[in-house]
Amino acid sequence: MNALGARIAQLIEAQGPISVAEFMALANDAYYASRDPLGRQGDFITAPEISQVFGELIGLWIVQAWAAQGRPRAKRLVELGPGRGTLMADALRAARVVPEFLDGLEVVLVEASPRLRAAQAERVPGARWADRFDGSLGDAPLFLIANEFFDALPVRQFVKTAAGWRERMVTLGANRALAFALSPLAVPGPADAPLGGVMEMCPAARAIAADIARAVQTTGGAALIVDYGYDAPGFGETLQAVRGHAFADILAHPGETDLSTHVDFSALAAAAADAAAFGPVTQGAFLERLGIFARVERLVAANPPAASSLRSGAERLIHPDEMGKMFKVLAILPASAPPPPGFREC
Ligand code: SAH
Repeated sequence: MNALGARIAQLIEAQGPISVAEFMALANDAYYASRDPLGRQGDFITAPEISQVFGELIGLWIVQAWAAQGRPRAKRLVELGPGRGTLMADALRAARVVPEFLDGLEVVLVEASPRLRAAQAERVPGARWADRFDGSLGDAPLFLIANEFFDALPVRQFVKTAAGWRERMVTLGANRALAFALSPLAVPGPADAPLGGVMEMCPAARAIAADIARAVQTTGGAALIVDYGYDAPGFGETLQAVRGHAFADILAHPGETDLSTHVDFSALAAAAADAAAFGPVTQGAFLERLGIFARVERLVAANPPAASSLRSGAERLIHPDEMGKMFKVLAILPASAPPPPGFREC
């Protein structure tokens, strides 16, 4: 057992079993604080690290949303969980085609990890940082991006047993190893689930989506949430541990593996009821509607030797067997806004 595992074992001995969400929060805080998880040498790779076109198209989407709302001079561009800062750097570079957008723009990066903040500072000069997304970020119109942020937030899990729904907890098993167990307390849950069915609930994701919607509705602006996930919840569990681009044991090495879940987009959309939620649409459809092919061919024309890597990067983002279908995009806009680009047939 590693040092964090031993600390969690002590905590459980002292105060009893902890929820899966508490375990996930402790493990992921330690994980992101101790490393840069991205890239070939890391544990996983994300869309902005695969292709510059991803951040560029998102930057242009944001500029268009800003233009559609009357081009307010004061504005915030906030990114949740910016990783290495690559997406933001690509988005800001693409946005240079409309210099008026950059004029008076405040860039805020919401990042918990000091290590990743340092990587972001290199790529996004002039940004400021915040520990969390809340009302302290100001009151100018809010433009917000979150790619692969919500999947890292802690979920609670509930299991349907013959005696009803029970919360899944982390406790101590044989040899004081961390082990899953069910709470003896009954909790309410849907009656139509099969025995052994699992429900995941992410209170943090709902709270953040509600805060974003409230801000967008009051100040104006637009938010784009991209992640792997599903339209409507089933009764399957999606919590997974990933290390070195392979699945790993969830409990064995806390803080050394990336813990994530598939995002419940219907829960995010419901939590955003103060504003208007559009989608989710698949990442493939979204990027194709925003013109990913034309953008790639422009880049190829400017840099022919990079043709095959530019084209294969874009293919990875949109192909249904790669990221095109499993990844989805949800937009949050003020209640009266028409469907934004990427969310309607064109
Ligand atoms: N968006 C980036 C990185 C995804 S990895 C990309 O697409 O490449 C997840 C990011 O979210 C990391 O930057 C991580 O440090 C950050 N993060 C995870 N949980 C967080 C939390 N609770 N608060 C703030 N940042 C968090």
